[in-house]
Amino acid sequence: MRRVFRRELSVAAAEYLDKQQTAADRAFRRGILNAVKAWASLTRSMHIRALRRLLGQMAGPGERCMYCVDSHGSDIDHFWPKTPYPQHMFRWPNLLLCCTECGRFKGTKFPRQDNGQPLLIDPSTENPWDHLDFDPISGRLTARYRLDLGDYSPMGVQTVQVLRLDREHLEGQYRKTYRRLCRVLEDFEEKPDGAGQDLAEALKRADDHGLLGWWIGGSGAEDPPLARFRKHGPDLWRECEVILSRTLSAGHAS
Ligand SMILES: [Zn+2]
Repeated sequence: MRRVFRRELSVAAAEYLDKQQTAADRAFRRGILNAVKAWASLTRSMHIRALRRLLGQMAGPGERCMYCVDSHGSDIDHFWPKTPYPQHMFRWPNLLLCCTECGRFKGTKFPRQDNGQPLLIDPSTENPWDHLDFDPISGRLTARYRLDLGDYSPMGVQTVQVLRLDREHLEGQYRKTYRRLCRVLEDFEEKPDGAGQDLAEALKRADDHGLLGWWIGGSGAEDPPLARFRKHGPDLWRECEVILSRTLSAGHAS
């Protein structure tokens, strides 16, 4: 998973969504709303197509699914599912891009805390690596153990479970990306005069699955290949890390 940075909708599209939400709220109060039908009837509209394009830009190169970051993001996902929560169905902050598989696994499942807050990771509001961990040997995504909680992140546990982020196919793909990142470090170990900017760019190009967020700010900071590189070229890494941290926290990535 990777952090996604939400972009601004055009005024016209925002007004269109507001209008649709008002109509949906009214139909819901009258008990005649069919959320699936209401959404399907509008997906060809100019404004929904425009916001679909915007979600694609937010997802970055390849328009990857915002949950598994592996398959192509083919569908607009309602983070709060539209049938049980129609009051969010036309709200821009509730819309993400997902692949068919993640969409099917998620369905109308939406675990929540006792206080009502969602227990799934919304990558447009949360840093996924605060809640997820990665095992470089198996390639598996798991919930992150949080020292502050003395337990695994409940959000991580639920997200992995509901979206099946530990599925076998993903393990292989995440492992491939991890190896590519390690190879970039190895290449730069042989370039003592390399520039931090070049290293950062090469890592970003290699990072198809958002694993840089695990290395920087996530629980992968002490991962052996990274720790070795840091020791080998501390200045180069420091320079690169500043650039990557900025990217990961403000979305200058793609
Ligand atoms: Zn997916």
